[in-house]
Amino acid sequence: MSTKKNEIINKINQLTKQIIEHNENYHTYDNPKISDEEYDALYSELKKIENSYPELASLNSPTKRVGAKLLGGFKKVEHKFPMLSLSNASDQNEFKLFYERICKDLNKSKVSLSAEPKFDGLAISLTYRKGLFHSAVTRGDGVIGEDVSINVRTIKTLPLALNDPYSKLDVVLKAEIYMNISDFNMINSKLKKNNEKVFANPRNIAAGTIRQLDPKIASKRNLQIFIHGIIEINKKIGTDSHINDMQIIKKMGFNVCEHNKTVETFNDAIKYYEDMNNIRQNLPYEIDGIVFKIDSYTDRDKLGETSKAPRWSIAYKFRSIEAQTRLKTVSFQVGRTGTITPVAELEPVSIGGVTISRASLHNMDEIQKKDIRINDIVYVKRAGDVIPDIDRVNLEKRGKTKPIKMPSYCPACNSQLKKVSNQTFFKCENSRNCKPQIIQSIQHFASRKAMNISGLGEGIIELLIDNNLITNYSDLYYINFDRVKKLERMGELSSSNLQQSIDESRDTTLDRLIYALGINEVGYTTAKILSKHYTSIEELSKTKLESLETIKDIGPVVAKNIVDFFKDNESKEILKRILNSNVNIKNMNKAVSNKLDGLTFVITGSFENYSRKSLEEIILNNGGSVSSSISKKTSYLVLGIKPGSKYDKAKNLKVKIIDEKNFSKLL
Ligand SMILES: [Zn+2]
Repeated sequence: MSTKKNEIINKINQLTKQIIEHNENYHTYDNPKISDEEYDALYSELKKIENSYPELASLNSPTKRVGAKLLGGFKKVEHKFPMLSLSNASDQNEFKLFYERICKDLNKSKVSLSAEPKFDGLAISLTYRKGLFHSAVTRGDGVIGEDVSINVRTIKTLPLALNDPYSKLDVVLKAEIYMNISDFNMINSKLKKNNEKVFANPRNIAAGTIRQLDPKIASKRNLQIFIHGIIEINKKIGTDSHINDMQIIKKMGFNVCEHNKTVETFNDAIKYYEDMNNIRQNLPYEIDGIVFKIDSYTDRDKLGETSKAPRWSIAYKFRSIEAQTRLKTVSFQVGRTGTITPVAELEPVSIGGVTISRASLHNMDEIQKKDIRINDIVYVKRAGDVIPDIDRVNLEKRGKTKPIKMPSYCPACNSQLKKVSNQTFFKCENSRNCKPQIIQSIQHFASRKAMNISGLGEGIIELLIDNNLITNYSDLYYINFDRVKKLERMGELSSSNLQQSIDESRDTTLDRLIYALGINEVGYTTAKILSKHYTSIEELSKTKLESLETIKDIGPVVAKNIVDFFKDNESKEILKRILNSNVNIKNMNKAVSNKLDGLTFVITGSFENYSRKSLEEIILNNGGSVSSSISKKTSYLVLGIKPGSKYDKAKNLKVKIIDEKNFSKLL
């Protein structure tokens, strides 16, 4: 080997080592030793050398964490060992029963358990071959998951190669991917600023991120990963103890939760649970309980597992976080379709680090059932999510109270409220002249799954209404932007951005438009179904109740709502204005044939020429329907490679089974 080549390899190795070390200081220990600029300099130097000598670059270089976009979706992968879920204990008594059972089954008076915080994240299996990162697969249904390697490899605290002396190991690990609360808050505040929908909790972002087809998104989102078990390994590395193995896992280069601990007795276990419950609000991540597992693998094997969960472990859940505060008063909010929702105005109280001053009371029946009154001391609960709930009243502290009454008139427009028959809620039926309803219907019209107009948050809509620029959503297509530009809170740039976004929304599809109209109880799925049965919005607007009712999945109430909507004179006028404004509505969904009319298909396994999604679409587009489970009514089971249990069921029920080729012939 030439000296020059050796020099370059040495330089690459040296830079790689430095970058990995700095990554670790920064991401694992939160203790950066160099500035961001210095780090960037190292990184770009390595990248430059790798670009000049691609043959010398390592596949697992830190510069290669972010790969190319996936085009066809995630590959389905069957787990070699099913990823089981855990049994739960929701109180001390249930945990005690578990502990007594394992003692009895093992014939011991006490059993040593490993105790670990239970992350509110998502489970994943990681495979390393010959010490190198090979793949990451989601839990899925426990049997088949999705290969999300491209996103998982962007997690900066995940080693792409194992440390010595484990650098040649084949190993499959169980891990949990999660997001720190601070990162969650940062992302949400950005979304909020842009008037976009926020995530309910860190788990939702983590799950959403890991299923993005473009790994650039994951690489920006600072996901975290903890290892909590070994599924399979090709060499004995440790002793008969899970906790000891976790120490070795750490030496391989992985992050392991620092709060993991062995507990030797039942009382120790309870103490650990209470201790963690006391500090959980101060942890940088969300946990929702403690997982207790028998530490000895020999003992685990003696107990085995059921088809659903191992017998040797249990998740002992925390009580949800709650606090007491005074209910000062109740305000009434008007929803998009006029529904009135009572909202509790509370004396501000801190729950899990978040200050709560309002909580939904849902409806009057709920208030009556819980006997909630104004001035009561109530228990407010935050159950994992951001939206708080009033759980119950502290009756011992009840003093002078006032009953909560539904107002007779709309708090926004003063028209008389009506109780919806057979329902628990009240409604303001003045939909076209009630400001909160107008604002929300325009927000709905502009939302992502509807006309997808960005930059149209509540504040901007209100501004446009107050300046008489719009009165309903059809007016969006007739806005005088010369006037918008001059509005104090708008400015030239956001005005022209809004104009562009509205212009772009003119090119749309029938399902989006149907959904955007905001017809009562017509959600996105219903809109999609309707677009399969009607060629145009004009055709839908003339439809009769009887013909709507023949469509599967359209119930009589929804059918009536649709007909009523298109009969209404104001709706007619609004729709006419939209259609006269140069919109271009394509229908992507209308069935291309009715060859499969009346046939019901179930799909199992994977296919050579189709993704499951495209197969489903083809069936729907040709008039057939797709079901997720086999029954006597199933016309055909479409059988792919590695079929699931549906195959056996289909044989038992004598359902016709066809493969990919015969399916194509059917068309
Ligand atoms: Zn009203």
